[in-house]
Amino acid sequence: MTFEELQIDEKLLEAISYMRFEKASPIQEQAIPLALEGHDLLACAQTGTGKTATFLIPILQDLVKNGSQGFTSLIIVPTRELAIQIDQELQGFSYFTDTTSKAVYGGDKGTDWDSQKLAFTEGTNVIIATPGRLMAHLRLGYVSMKNLRHLVLDEADRMLDMGFIDDIRQILSYVPPKRQTMLFSATMAPEIQKLATTILHEPKIVSIAIAKPAEGVKQSAYMAYPHQKVDLITHILEQNPDYDSIIIFTSTKKNIHSIVSAIKKKIRNVTIDGISSDFEQAEREEVLLRFRAKQTRVLVATDVLSRGIDIKGINLVINFDVPRDAADYVHRVGRTARADAKGEAITFISDLDIPKFHKIEHLIERSVDKVPLPQELGEAPEWKEYQPKPKIHHGSNQKNGGKRKFFYRKKKNGSKENKGKVE
Ligand code: ADP
Ligand code: MG
Repeated sequence: MTFEELQIDEKLLEAISYMRFEKASPIQEQAIPLALEGHDLLACAQTGTGKTATFLIPILQDLVKNGSQGFTSLIIVPTRELAIQIDQELQGFSYFTDTTSKAVYGGDKGTDWDSQKLAFTEGTNVIIATPGRLMAHLRLGYVSMKNLRHLVLDEADRMLDMGFIDDIRQILSYVPPKRQTMLFSATMAPEIQKLATTILHEPKIVSIAIAKPAEGVKQSAYMAYPHQKVDLITHILEQNPDYDSIIIFTSTKKNIHSIVSAIKKKIRNVTIDGISSDFEQAEREEVLLRFRAKQTRVLVATDVLSRGIDIKGINLVINFDVPRDAADYVHRVGRTARADAKGEAITFISDLDIPKFHKIEHLIERSVDKVPLPQELGEAPEWKEYQPKPKIHHGSNQKNGGKRKFFYRKKKNGSKENKGKVE
């Protein structure tokens, strides 16, 4: 489906074409017409499928068609990076319109607070905000929501994971009841459905099936003990000199520094940075900017970066460890080979990670090639094929996006036997 078929304003069509969007993605094709009709929306599709445009285009169309007086549209997002990214995409789509917008997020200098306050008091049309900072402004009493007609919760699953539910509920108490509400999530976890029933009014539901890494991604894995992993990275980087944009994912923030410094010691002149939620805001932006500009070849990151953030042209994703949550594998691998490009994803599996990798293979419905470790790195742990155990519901991880369900099950059935199977 082309965007022309959506019957939206010429000004938007022109901007869309400048942004080189030719065909609507599946979520866009299904959800944009419903949103244009003014319905509330619960939309579920994995990372990288074009959810941002799915809510921005209908919002902008409404503003162009029905006027944009004051603060009309609020988009709530989990992270500052995402707020900035959405604001940039919005500026692209709204280039030929009068729409004004502002990203509002915390952790910065006082001047930013003032410019954010000004955005509210001057009636900027679209505010893209993180929950904590938005609440801080709301409490001070100068934010008027009387013109508000669109509310978007983007990455709602991530926001729940990050514990923003109380902030969100408080924010909702400020928002006028008559509005269009759109809730976006990468997973249809039960918590999301619950949230949806409390904030959406007769929503249309669009859910695009999860979650196989794109065809263009070559996936493989090495069995490796933890002490072999840095040497293995060195080997891979040396084997692929033309890969200029590489992300190494690790589940633990505290690993980042040690991985970065170990690789620096092994490879002379490598450009490498680390990034995690522990970094200062300015530092994170700086690191991302350098990586996007390809001044940094290798970025070591936690899963915070695996969702939402869009970076083009990543050649290779290395999973330094197997993600706890099988869905995070899909998110991580989805950082490469975006929009039909080619890419590669390599996962390091230690002996303890084998059960977690089985769950991933189950989720993506295929087995991933296990490449033998280079001889000079020594003996690798042995891969074990999966032995199905009848009591476990293998589908549960897929349905629930993981964590909460496991936590619950572990608590309830804390026997050794069960733990072994679940983890
Ligand atoms: P999601 O929110 O689902 O993770 P995004 O909205 O961030 O995905 O989109 C991912 C990338 O795909 C972005 O770079 C976006 O500009 C691009 N994109 C989205 N829709 C289209 C489209 N219809 N045609 C081309 N590129 C698109
Ligand atoms: Mg998104």
